[in-house]
Parts: sequence; structure tokens; C-alpha cells
Amino acid sequence: MKRLTPVVALVLFAAAAWLLPYGLDRYAIHVVDVAVIFALLGIGLGLVMGVAGQINLAQVAFFGIGAYACAILTTRAGLGFWVAAALAVLAAVVVGLVVSVPALRVQSHYLGIVTLGLALAFINWITNAALAGKSEGISDLPVPPMFGIDLSSEYLFYYVELVVFAVALAFALFVVRTPLGRRMRAMRDDSLAAGALGAEIPLLRITAFVLSGLYGGVAGVLYAGLIRYVAPETFSVANMFLLLAMVIIGGRQSIVGCVVGALALSLLRELLVDFSVYAQLGYGAVVVLMVVFAPTGLAGVPRLVRSWLRRRKGRDEGRRATLGSFTPYEPAPVRGGGVMLEVRGVGMSFKGLRALDDVTLSVPAGEIRGVVGPNGSGKTTLFNIISGFYVPTAGQVLLEGRGIGGTAPYRLSQLGVARTFQNLRLFGDLTARENILVALDRTRTHWIWRYVLLPWGVVRHDRDLRRRADDIVGRYGLDDFADAQPKSLPYGIQRRIEIARAMAMSPRLLLLDEPAAGLNDEEVRQLAAMVRSIRDSGVTVVIIEHHMGLVMSLCDQVTVLSGGRVIADGPPAEVAVVPEVVEAYLGEAGYLNAETQDAQEVTR
Ligand code: ADP
Ligand code: MG
Repeated sequence: MKRLTPVVALVLFAAAAWLLPYGLDRYAIHVVDVAVIFALLGIGLGLVMGVAGQINLAQVAFFGIGAYACAILTTRAGLGFWVAAALAVLAAVVVGLVVSVPALRVQSHYLGIVTLGLALAFINWITNAALAGKSEGISDLPVPPMFGIDLSSEYLFYYVELVVFAVALAFALFVVRTPLGRRMRAMRDDSLAAGALGAEIPLLRITAFVLSGLYGGVAGVLYAGLIRYVAPETFSVANMFLLLAMVIIGGRQSIVGCVVGALALSLLRELLVDFSVYAQLGYGAVVVLMVVFAPTGLAGVPRLVRSWLRRRKGRDEGRRATLGSFTPYEPAPVRGGGVMLEVRGVGMSFKGLRALDDVTLSVPAGEIRGVVGPNGSGKTTLFNIISGFYVPTAGQVLLEGRGIGGTAPYRLSQLGVARTFQNLRLFGDLTARENILVALDRTRTHWIWRYVLLPWGVVRHDRDLRRRADDIVGRYGLDDFADAQPKSLPYGIQRRIEIARAMAMSPRLLLLDEPAAGLNDEEVRQLAAMVRSIRDSGVTVVIIEHHMGLVMSLCDQVTVLSGGRVIADGPPAEVAVVPEVVEAYLGEAGYLNAETQDAQEVTR
């Protein structure tokens, strides 16, 4: 039944869309034709901005490139409509590629300014270039030929649009629900963490802009074929803003939301055509209200209503969810043996501040190594170097004997380095399961050519990932929380999801940065069992921890940092009595006898 409902809904929608022109007069069908084109633009903007988190105010320029290229190639170069159309889409894609270059350097509002500048440059060019017909634009485009069907009829053109739109929507939904879309959403939520999980951020950003260029180009070509006249005002900043309003009101993180927003606002614009000045003000006001009160847009309303109803029905429902127990891994021999991680004379300075100074340590494969030290002693900095976020200013790091200086985080994750973060870096708008799915996907980004040439291969890969995600969710006792967003969950559960996510990468070296921070005693005990089992499964673990009880009982060896230097190194019991160590902790009296101390207090 549950499976049938979407199919029935889809059939009804398709039938309604197919029959729609029979009920419309000539003007109304024109409005609908234009609305569908804006819906295509909305999908493109939704992909780049909502899904990939790249602010793109040049979408209207992609649209314009598609339309103008088509107009110029047909009227000036005398090409046939469809040949011109294919080249025009290609041109828009190439421009998308070019616009993505600034996104490799700047983000957020800076990117907004840069892309807006590019859009303005485009408008400036079409208004002044003789080739583009200056402010008069280009008219008399040919009617697109199609097996004798007269596409100068806007009724018949509607069906061409409908087919293109259906394919475009299906492809966008396919992307969002499979590995590429998940990676883009992960990048949107936290590009640093996504990088550490194997996402090639630059390539992903380029891909996002290329997709929006593709959708913009297709919309432009359809516009050229429909109106057969292009002029600068269609591609103005006012229309860019309208498009932005469509996507924000509809709900930029949801592709269907973008479509609904685009269709609704297109129709509304026609209704308010006599009040266009006030209408602009109205859109502005609605956008501001949406951003403040409903950042998920119309698409987020069902969820808001559902959670409101749930809260009304009974508050305790959420409490029934419980964290299950962890199922230990099968013990396995350590692969390779020898030294897993070697840090040789590493130094790190931040504008004069020496965070690390001549740090040397060596971690044998299959060991649990503790790293302790007062706050600010450089522990996290050491992890950031090992996982590729920082390039050390001196010394080198070797992973299984291989130098990794300057290796990007995504490469290191492929070489088997996984980490968690002191301040938790889960992807907040992805579910717990999706967080794990992102980590499970070990393909390189260029693998995504399959989306075009081998889509069923993508489906198969995704199905396989989901099966493995179920296993991990079960192993870590997360069944009750798998479909919740991490930000809504208690701290201890988030910590566990982060470990599950790191282990989903099948690492050889696991770096845990203060995993016990904020956990209660029972949770700390569970954590210890978990880390031991991870080690027994053949993974080498380095753990930064303040909870001394945990360090003493868990670690084979402990390295003590103070002021960026190693002041002691050895088995826990020996390290605890080294005079320098005792002295380093004097400020935090009794620190080393923390077995009796409350973990929360220590980590503050
Ligand atoms: P710990 O994890 O041991 O508490 P950190 O490694 O986070 O310590 O920090 C060590 C020192 O380096 C601190 O003084 C911190 O302010 C400094 N530091 C860390 N990262 C940066 C950075 N990106 N820029 C400037 N200073 C930094
Ligand atoms: Mg730290």
C-alpha cells in the first residue's frame, strides 16, 4: 500500500499535466509554458544552492547564455534549431564550469557577490554587443522543427516542455537521493568533515555549477523555441531575484519544493501583473519572512506540521527511543604489522604561535595510543596534521612508512585515515543513516560519469551502500535514531554516530578527538568496550582524552604533550609518575588521579 501511493500520485499528476491544456485559453497556456521554464531554472538553482550550498546569483545568466546562443546560432550563423540548441546547452555548461572557478576560492556571501558580478557582466554584454542585438535583442528565431508537428502552437510546445521537464525533474531527484547528492549535501553542511570522509570538495563544487549550467541552458533553449525572441530584460537582476524568491519560498533543499515555488510564483506574477511595483515589494517581504520563520520553505511545512502534531499527541513519544547496545567486531589479525603511524620532528606555527614543536612519536599497528595534555597543548593540531587539514611547518608524518606531508584530507581518507572531531562535525541536515552512507561511499568523484552513462550502476551501488549502512546502524545500536537528524539528538548519541561514521570508512588508523567529552559514566564504559573491539578488529587507534580513567585502562601507551612538546611517552603507569608530567598538570591539581573524577568536569 505504502509503495503504491506514490505510483498512484505520479500517474494522477501525469494525467493532469497531460490534460491541462484542454482547459486553458491561449493566454493561459502561454503563462503555463513560461512557468515550466522557470521551474527548470528553479531545479538548477535548487541543485547548486539548496543541495550543494553554493550561492549562485548567475543562474539567470546561464538561462540567458542558453537562449542567446540559440538565437545567435540560428539567426546569425544559420544553423538548424536543434543543432543550435545542443551547442547552446553546451555553452551554458561551459559557462557554469567557468563560474565555478571562484567557488573554489570563496564561499557564502563572497561567492554571492562574485556570481552577481558575473550576471551583471553578462547583462551588460547583451545590452551593448551588436552580435546580441543590443537592447532590441534578437527576433525572428525559427520555429523548432519536429516531425511535422507545428511547434509554433504554444499548446503543442507545452508537450515538448512537459517531456523535457519530466526527464529533468527525474534526473535531479535521482542525483539528490544517491551518492552524488548525498556528498553535495554533506559538503553544504560541513565541507571540512566531508573532505575528511573522502569528498573531493573542488570537484564537487564544479559539478554543482555544471549541473546548474545544464538546467539553465536547457531552460534557455526552450525559452528561445517558445518565444522566438530574446531581449535583455528577460535575464535581468529583477528576474534573478524572482528566481531566488521562488527557490527560497518553495524550499531550496527540496527539489520538489523548488518546482512548486517556481510554478506558484510564476502564476502569482501573472495575477499581479497590474501591480508589479507592489508585487516586487511583496515578494521581498515574503522572502524575508520565509528566511526568518520557515527557512525550509513550503517544502518544510509538512514536516513542521507533523512534528507539531506529534508534540500535541504526547511529548513522551520521543523518549521511547533507546540507544541499543554495541555489537563487537569479529577479532581479526592486524594487517601489515610494523609501524602504522610515525611523526618525526613535527612543528607547527600559527603566525608566530608555536602550537607544536619537534613532536616525535611512533604508533605500532594494532595499538591504542593515548594522547593527553592540558588544553592548548597542541593535541588537536597534531590530529589536524595527521588527517591532512594542516601542512606542518617542520618535520614529517609517515603512514605505514609512506610520507603524507601535503596530502589532501580526501586522499588520506582513501589511504585509511578516519577521524572524529572534538566539537562533533556531523552533517546536521542529513539523517544519521545518511551520515554513515556518506562515509561508506569510497568512490572517487569522477565515478559520477555513471550518472549519465550507467545510471543503473549508480542504483546498484546505492543499494549496496544502504545494505551496509543497515549493518552499521544495527552494530552501533542506532536503529531508533537512524532516520533522525543528528542535531536533534542527545550528545552521547551524536558521539556514537560520529564513531560509527568514522568506522564506516573501514579505516586502518582511527583518530578519536576527546570521544568521552560530555558522556556519563555508563557511556564512557560503553565507549571503552567499543574502542577495544575496534582495535581487536585490526584497526590502530589514537585517542586524545582528558578522562584519565579511560586513558589509563584503555591505552597501550600514552604520549603526553605540554606547550606543543612531548614531555613523556610510554606505558600509562610509567608516564603517570614522570615528574614533568605531574608538574605540567599542577595547575589542574589531582588531574592524574581522575579515575574518581567526573568526566564532564574535566573536559570543561
Ligand atoms: P588542544 O587540542 O591540545 O587543546 P589545540 O591543538 O587545539 O590544543 O591548540 C594548540 C594551540 O594552537 C592553541 O594555542 C590554539 O589557540 C592554537 N591553534 C590551533 N589551531 C589554530 C589555528 N588554526 N590558528 C591559530 N592558532 C591555532
Ligand atoms: Mg583539542
